[in-house]
Amino acid sequence: MKVLVLGAGVVGVTSAWYLARAGHEVEVVDRQPGAGLETSFANAGQLSFGYSSPWAGPGIPLKALKWMFMQHSPLVIRPRLDPAQWSWLLQMLKNCTESAYQTNKSRMVRVSDYSRTALADLREETGIGYDGLQRGTLQLFRTQYQMDHSADDVRILTQSGVPCALLDREACVAVEPALARVKDKFVGGLHTPEDETGDAHIFTQRLAALCAEKGVKFRYNTAIKRILVEGGDIAGVETSAGVLKADRYLMALGSFSPKLLAPLGLKIPVYPVKGYSITVPIADAAAAPASTVMDETYKIAITRLGDRIRVGGTAEIAGYDNTLHEERKKTLLHSVQDLYPQGGQYEQAKFWTGMRPMTPDGTPIIGPTKYSRLFLNTGHGTLGWTMSCGSGKLAADLVTGQRPNIEYADLAMARYA
Ligand SMILES: Cc1cc2nc3c(=O)[nH]c(=O)nc-3n(C[C@H](O)[C@H](O)[C@H](O)COP(=O)(O)OP(=O)(O)OC[C@H]3O[C@@H](n4cnc5c(N)ncnc54)[C@H](O)[C@@H]3O)c2cc1C
Repeated sequence: MKVLVLGAGVVGVTSAWYLARAGHEVEVVDRQPGAGLETSFANAGQLSFGYSSPWAGPGIPLKALKWMFMQHSPLVIRPRLDPAQWSWLLQMLKNCTESAYQTNKSRMVRVSDYSRTALADLREETGIGYDGLQRGTLQLFRTQYQMDHSADDVRILTQSGVPCALLDREACVAVEPALARVKDKFVGGLHTPEDETGDAHIFTQRLAALCAEKGVKFRYNTAIKRILVEGGDIAGVETSAGVLKADRYLMALGSFSPKLLAPLGLKIPVYPVKGYSITVPIADAAAAPASTVMDETYKIAITRLGDRIRVGGTAEIAGYDNTLHEERKKTLLHSVQDLYPQGGQYEQAKFWTGMRPMTPDGTPIIGPTKYSRLFLNTGHGTLGWTMSCGSGKLAADLVTGQRPNIEYADLAMARYA
């Protein structure tokens, strides 16, 4: 079977890998000159299998209001005259109930758990390296209030079978030794030892190279203009390099998926939620993070990636706008310099922004559409790197009519019907 994968981000490339591994002919199309050059380029580097949970949850509307008046706020809303923005925000609000949170979380944890195993198997099979570490995540609490209110998180993690431990100041330092220099800045933390870290861009590029060895054809610098329908099904994809045809089509265009689906009468609530990162060369390894530290106050993740520190955060709801706002860089620098003052060569920070393809329920959209030849693997929001291998494996099975190893019906776009 020939499958055309639309998009060479981490989600498209993992999909291509599992399709090629199953013996199918695969072609991947992307407008960029290489793989993983848009949202998968410089994310925060967390493989947060344990922390997989939706942003929409009970208490979030109130928190969001408070954040909007805070200096170094983790949330920025730039209102637009765009019905998609308002409808998405409304759907997000509707998902802020306890029951919606539990349903959405259980779906996300299912995909993440599947991904954890798939990534470990992939590492073993191929030896792929991506500046990865398996040293866990430390959610750092600067205030006693945060520490006291983490009981709910501990309960949910424990219920989901995720190992975790509340650590006092000294125990945090045992996990993240460089924090010994700034002990007065925090009171404790929540440690999830089974989380991992790694550079999604390096991973995507190396996996694309492994795909090419398996015969996958990559068509870069090729813009997808529209999807062609004939006789009630997909007849091809019109691109800047002409019309491309296949037996099946898998869309993995991240935040841009809804734009190409709308003309087909397919409406998915994926909205671009902008985030920012800086990447900094390490100045002194002993003064830098050992793994990932989540600065709970600013919702900023600080991650060790080989000889670099990646700092990522901010949810900016501003449509398809990739302006680099300097004040966001200041927030990232504020958090990392406060906790790791001697860790990085901060004057060399490389500033980046990307658009998280977010669904209001936090769960990706993986599965069939009303067109028998078109499948989706998109909407991975905050956790596309974490969920990529499991999503790719699941999508490959669905596209080729194999029975997947996990429950999948509630991950398809039909859940919004
Ligand atoms: C600041 C930030 C921090 C993050 N931190 C983490 C983290 O720590 N852990 C984690 O798991 N996730 C994280 N994420 C989320 C994660 O990066 C994304 O979910 C993931 O990269 C999405 O991958 P994707 O392949 O779906 O999208 P993309 O990587 O955007 O890939 C889509 C591809 O489609 C192509 N494309 C789009 N439109 C067209 C067109 N018309 N024609 C041709 N090609 C097209 C693009 O060029 C692109 O290559 C973070 C995101 C941000 C912004």
